[in-house]
Amino acid sequence: MSGSERKIRALREILQKPGNNTCADCGAPDPEWASCSLGVFICLACSGIHRNIQEISKVKSVGLSHWEDQELEFMAKNGNEPTKKIYEATVPVYYYKPNHKDCQVLREQWIRAKYERKEFSEAGRNLIYEEGTRDGMLMKRGRDNGQFLNRRFVLSEREGTLKYFTKFDAKDPKAVIKVDTINATFKPEKIGNPNGLQITYLKAYSTRNIFVYHDSSKEIVDWFNSIRAVQLHYLKVAFPGATDAELVPKLTRNFLKEGYMEKTGPRQTEGFKKRWFTLDHRRLMYFKDPLDAFAKGEVFLGNKDHGYQIFPGLPSGTHHNGSWQHGITIKTPERCFLFTCETEEDQESWMKHFSDVMSAPMSPQEFAMEATFRHKH
Ligand SMILES: [Zn+2]
Repeated sequence: MSGSERKIRALREILQKPGNNTCADCGAPDPEWASCSLGVFICLACSGIHRNIQEISKVKSVGLSHWEDQELEFMAKNGNEPTKKIYEATVPVYYYKPNHKDCQVLREQWIRAKYERKEFSEAGRNLIYEEGTRDGMLMKRGRDNGQFLNRRFVLSEREGTLKYFTKFDAKDPKAVIKVDTINATFKPEKIGNPNGLQITYLKAYSTRNIFVYHDSSKEIVDWFNSIRAVQLHYLKVAFPGATDAELVPKLTRNFLKEGYMEKTGPRQTEGFKKRWFTLDHRRLMYFKDPLDAFAKGEVFLGNKDHGYQIFPGLPSGTHHNGSWQHGITIKTPERCFLFTCETEEDQESWMKHFSDVMSAPMSPQEFAMEATFRHKH
């Protein structure tokens, strides 16, 4: 056996150790790369980010690079679990840890926060998102003209609000957003900016969207985690007995699915119209355009034992004048909703998400939300 074969075999053995079989940074399975200076195994995508912090991280391929004996020893001695204990020692519970499906800005800032800025390994660090208040400028998309303009945003833990101002010295905010109604999610492609963040919130029971970005990836991710920190603080006050594990899923969350479907109105004679749909857990919202400020409408998806059902296809006799063929019917206690998808894959994927949501038991808060929906429609 040659020296390099021996080394590859030794590396493969180290990879078998618990914790080394998923990427240390995003959790993707079967990492084929490593940082031989940090002692972690990582996926291809994360290795690309590590290459941008060469002063700290020296990237090597498990199968293709030449490894020195002392580098092998270092990997054997360290590895993902022990290294996480160091670099993720003090990650706050609300801090968003990205997975391999998340966008570049989240994954890159997670890696930089851990290894470059050492935000979670040095005791006594004052983390900017822990401060309870945040005041700064973000580029915000204009509601009707689609133009991005610099706006002042103020986040306050004490008030439980996020406000924004159209003029820097304005006394009155343009909007006061209650943090408990916020969902924030990175949407770079939709917004057309690598740091694009969508902030969805409720105002008078209707859904509003604003779209923001900051040229600095660190700034926008700090805003995102600051919002999560304030939300957790708010929830702890609202639900004093609840554990962190119960509250963290209530912070910002990714949409389950987004995309175009066709839908028809309540009388089902209006014709099918193409709309942009966003599924945020039990709320299926629809918009004329993905970047609209207001939802045109929404459907609450309750539990299947409480009058909510889903079927593939459209009821027989439906006058279908749309261009898409793959139907979905949702029955709620109030009415029937008819949708069509462009492809069968799309239909199956939407159906799966709807049926997952409808199979999940409802929390008391969700029963309250259902009641407000019934009140509205
Ligand atoms: Zn990764």
